[in-house]
Amino acid sequence: MEETPADKRLQQVANGVYRFDTGYIRPRHTACYIIRAEDRVAIVDCGVNATIEPLLEAVETLGVTRHAIESLIATHAHLDHAGGGGRLMAAIPQATLYAHPSATRHLIDPGKLEKGVRAVYGDTFFDREYGALEPVSSERVVATPDQTTLKLGQRVLDVVHTPGHARHHQAIRDRQTSVVFAGDAFGVGYPELDGPEGRLFVPETPPNQFDPEAMHASIDRILALTPARILPTHYGNVDKPASVAYQLHRFVDAYVECCMQADSLESLQQAIMKLYEQELRRRGRRDDIPLMRDYYSMDTNLVAQGLWDWRLKDARQR
Ligand SMILES: [Zn+2]
Repeated sequence: MEETPADKRLQQVANGVYRFDTGYIRPRHTACYIIRAEDRVAIVDCGVNATIEPLLEAVETLGVTRHAIESLIATHAHLDHAGGGGRLMAAIPQATLYAHPSATRHLIDPGKLEKGVRAVYGDTFFDREYGALEPVSSERVVATPDQTTLKLGQRVLDVVHTPGHARHHQAIRDRQTSVVFAGDAFGVGYPELDGPEGRLFVPETPPNQFDPEAMHASIDRILALTPARILPTHYGNVDKPASVAYQLHRFVDAYVECCMQADSLESLQQAIMKLYEQELRRRGRRDDIPLMRDYYSMDTNLVAQGLWDWRLKDARQR
């Protein structure tokens, strides 16, 4: 991935809106977005440390300098979205970082987040994929309460809080094009699994803030923004939001049911994989099951861990 020139990883997805393939895990796995208004630029999520230099090069291929970047907006603090935030902010000293009020402390002082992520992914994965997290000085970080309006030149961006995947998650709507940057609040789908019946999208429920009610509500909230196109982080365009929302709601309910019935974390992970297989079978795409198993192995692991954590917490509260 590193050998692909930055401009080849860049794709226009709406008027003045560009997707950049961060290359995290594999091509077409994780995106960040560049919004341009004349000579001003905002970045929505910035990927990991290794993404930052190619992302800045990609911005420059649009005919503006990196100093045109006036804001970085984080959908949430998870490292595939904002792990490179400190490095990016160091490279663009004039910019401001906007994040959910509960996410800002993780960006200012990433130590606690790092500890949690190392516990989930292990040190080897962490060191290879994320590297050293760099803090952002608190004066440069602005918390965005629900329904904050951000300006980028003539463009107006609306921030809405969308918990469920994480409590500190927000989505961003661009008024000019009606696209919504959904982060991980509107599921995860990889283009390789697209079929004639549409996109396969599944809810992502990593440890340790999964909340099924909040996730249902956030899916509906994003739909209520009447997006012309949803731009998730993982990966591609969602041009039929209502049908994807329907799938996601059903999967969230099925996850919860599997979770309550599972007798171990391992059996839960298998049950989640089985749900995805059933969905492909229902679509008449049995042949794609091996590819799905490969592409979603990390996701089912995280999904099961997050569900298991939720169930243990839920049991303690009862
Ligand atoms: Zn993510």
